[in-house]
Amino acid sequence: MKVSVVIPAYNEEENLPVLYERLKAVLDRLEGDYEILFVDDGSTDGSFEVLRDLARRDGRVRVIRFRRNYGQTAAMYAGFEHATGDVIVTMDADLQNDPEDIPRLLRKLEEGYDIVSGWRKDRKDPFLSRRLPSKIANWIISKVTGVELHDYGCTLKAYRSEIAKRYRLYGDMHRFLPALARRFGARVTEIPVRHHPRLYGRSKYGIGRTVRVILDIFLVKFLNEYITKPLYVFGGIGFLLLTAGILIELYLTLLKIFTGADIGGRPLLILGVLLILAGIQLLSTGIIAELIVRTYYESRGEKPYVIEEKLNFGE
Ligand code: UDP
Ligand code: MG
Repeated sequence: MKVSVVIPAYNEEENLPVLYERLKAVLDRLEGDYEILFVDDGSTDGSFEVLRDLARRDGRVRVIRFRRNYGQTAAMYAGFEHATGDVIVTMDADLQNDPEDIPRLLRKLEEGYDIVSGWRKDRKDPFLSRRLPSKIANWIISKVTGVELHDYGCTLKAYRSEIAKRYRLYGDMHRFLPALARRFGARVTEIPVRHHPRLYGRSKYGIGRTVRVILDIFLVKFLNEYITKPLYVFGGIGFLLLTAGILIELYLTLLKIFTGADIGGRPLLILGVLLILAGIQLLSTGIIAELIVRTYYESRGEKPYVIEEKLNFGE
């Protein structure tokens, strides 16, 4: 079994040499082969020079350098694409994750899981700006997606390669990988891992991340459950609105015809018009989304299902 450790790094020059030494000590103890894949996410400090030195000294260190800063998710995506291992482990470059936890993640994976997520049980980050929002977010994500984890935000995770390589990652979605994996029927679990305070360099995120996480929760829910049937979402709501609008206008029309009442100034009239318009809009959005989804799958030759095994298929 070969392990690929994927590490996005953005301005982490002081951390990288220490991380490499610790990681190597752990990985050398493992039985199989390994590679350490650093993705330099457009660092402006000496990170790349440090990585180049490491790559010169050690052939198992592989480095991808981005032209500019594209973000942690893009760095991870690139790492997944280029990883050659059977198992991919992701971790931060800032020494907040502990390489010593990797063997435990791998052992858990061997029990038959597709993803083992780290849980920073004793997290060393500020409470108000980081730990509290994270607690709330994890609770919501768990409830909404049905994949219950204490710590989506922990980068230290181990994936079976086939699963990790299935993702097309955009935006800030890397933290949702275990939830997104539900679409592929992945078996997900978590184990507590160590966490250390950041010693060198600065955190790249602040409280502003919360809004993006909330928006992403909607997206994950949609991707997991409705990606192959967007018409049911948009069309469903559109249909309700349209029906309500038609009923309202029908009622006003009858009122006008039979009682001759003056309906021109009634708020209900405007509400009805609004509902009809919104309903039609949503219905057509649903149809367009259906077309887009078909293009999405067919252009990539992808199927909306994942087969676990086939028997008697002569392979
Ligand atoms: N990172 C990156 N690109 C970015 C921001 C962060 O590659 O645009 C890396 C960073 O170098 C670190 C990891 O992502 O290895 C996590 O970042 P950070 O430690 O700042 O996040 P925190 O631990 O504070 O949530
Ligand atoms: Mg960190």
